[in-house]
Amino acid sequence: MKYINKSFSIEKVKAQNLAKKFNTPIYCYSYKLLKENINNFKKNFKSFSPLICFAVKANTNVNIIREIGKLGLGADVVSIGELMKALKAGINPKKIVFSGVGKTVDEISYAIDKKILLINAESKSEIIEIEKIAKSKKKIINIGIRLNPNTDAKTLTQISTGKKENKFGVDKKTFFELVKYSKNSKNIKLKCLSVHIGSQIVNHIPYEKMLKVVNRIIKKTNYKFEFIDLGGGMGISYDNNNKKLNYKKYSIAIKKNLKTHKSKIIFEPGRSIVGNIGVLISKIIYIKENEKKDFIILDAAMNDLMRPALYGANHRTLPVLKTNQISKKTYQFVGPICESTDKFITLKKFQKLKEKDLIVMCDVGAYGMSLSSNYNVRPKPVEILIKGSKINVIKKRQKLSDLI
Ligand SMILES: *Cc1c(COP(=O)(O)O)cnc(C)c1O
Repeated sequence: MKYINKSFSIEKVKAQNLAKKFNTPIYCYSYKLLKENINNFKKNFKSFSPLICFAVKANTNVNIIREIGKLGLGADVVSIGELMKALKAGINPKKIVFSGVGKTVDEISYAIDKKILLINAESKSEIIEIEKIAKSKKKIINIGIRLNPNTDAKTLTQISTGKKENKFGVDKKTFFELVKYSKNSKNIKLKCLSVHIGSQIVNHIPYEKMLKVVNRIIKKTNYKFEFIDLGGGMGISYDNNNKKLNYKKYSIAIKKNLKTHKSKIIFEPGRSIVGNIGVLISKIIYIKENEKKDFIILDAAMNDLMRPALYGANHRTLPVLKTNQISKKTYQFVGPICESTDKFITLKKFQKLKEKDLIVMCDVGAYGMSLSSNYNVRPKPVEILIKGSKINVIKKRQKLSDLI
C-alpha cells in the first residue's frame, strides 16, 4: 500500500479507480501483504515447525480463507458457521481446531462427523457433552483442554482472556481434575493443552509468563500432550510509531520453556495474518463545520467498521489523493449512524478535505468486515482482493433488496 503519483494504491491498483468502478465503501485487501505476513510468521517459528491455524473470526471471507489455506495454514474456528466456511475454503479437517466456551450439541456433533484435528474444550460440562456424543457415535474423539493460566496479557480489558476473572478456559485445579477424568474415558482422548491469553499483545513478557505456567503445569500433570496450542494474540502496529510483537523473542521463550515436552506447537493467529492487509475506502458525504472541529461525515459507519466504537480503536486514516494543502481545522471522521459512538479518528493538520473526497482507513483486515452488521439497514460493503494489477471481487456488495 503506497502512493503512486500521489494516488493511494493497493499493489498496482488505485483506490480512486476502485471507488469509481464499485462505489464506496469498499473493503480492499492486498494478496502480497497476506503472503508476506504468512511467510514472515513461518520463518520466525521455523525451528519447531508449528501447525499454524488461522483464527477465522478475524476475517471470514471464504476466498481469503482459501488463499490462507493454499499458503499452508489450517484454521481455528469458534462456531459451526466458521467451521463450514473453513471446510468450504478447502482447509484440511486435520488442520482445524475448534475453540470456544459454548459449543452446542449440534456443533460438537458436526465437528466429530467432519473428523477435525481437535476440539478444545473449555469446561467440565463440555467434556462430558463431547464424551456423550462420541459414545453415541461409537467414536473416540481427540480433545484439548483450554487452561486459563491467570496471566495478564497487558492489553485492552475488552480483549484480555487469560485472567481468572475471564470466562475462558479452566483454572489449574480443574485442569488437573479434567486430565485425570480424560485418562479414564473410553470415548475421548486428551491430546492437547491449549491457551489463548488475549489479543493485540505487543510485548513478549505476558507470553513468557504464560509459558512458564504451562511448563509448570505440564510437569505437574506428568502427562504427554501430543500438542500444545498457544493460541493467537500476536499484536500488530496500528500506528507508525507503535510497536508490534517481536516474534523472535516469543520464539526463543517457547523453546526455552516447552522444548523438553516434545509436543507439536499449534498457533492460532488471526490479526497478525490479516490485520494490515486491508483498507476501507470511503467517500465524504458532507462536511459539517463546528466551532471546535469539523465533522467529516463518511459513507462508512460503525456497522462497516466496529473497532472504534467497540474498543476505542484508532485506524490510521489517509486521503486517497494527496495534495499538499494542510487544513487548519481539526477533523473528526464520523459515520452517518444515529449513535454517538459512530465515530472514527480525530486528527489535526490533516490534508484539507472537501465533500466527495475519498479517504482510506488502514489496517482493517482483521475484525473489520467480520464484525460488520446491517445496523440501520445498511448493506455490507463489497470486498475486493488485489493481486498485482488484478482486481478480484471476493464478495459482492449486499443489495438493499436482500435486506428488505
Ligand atoms: C480470537 C482468538 C484467536 C485469534 O486472536 P488474534 O488476536 O486475532 O490473533 C485465537 N484463538 C482463540 C481461541 C481466539 O478466541
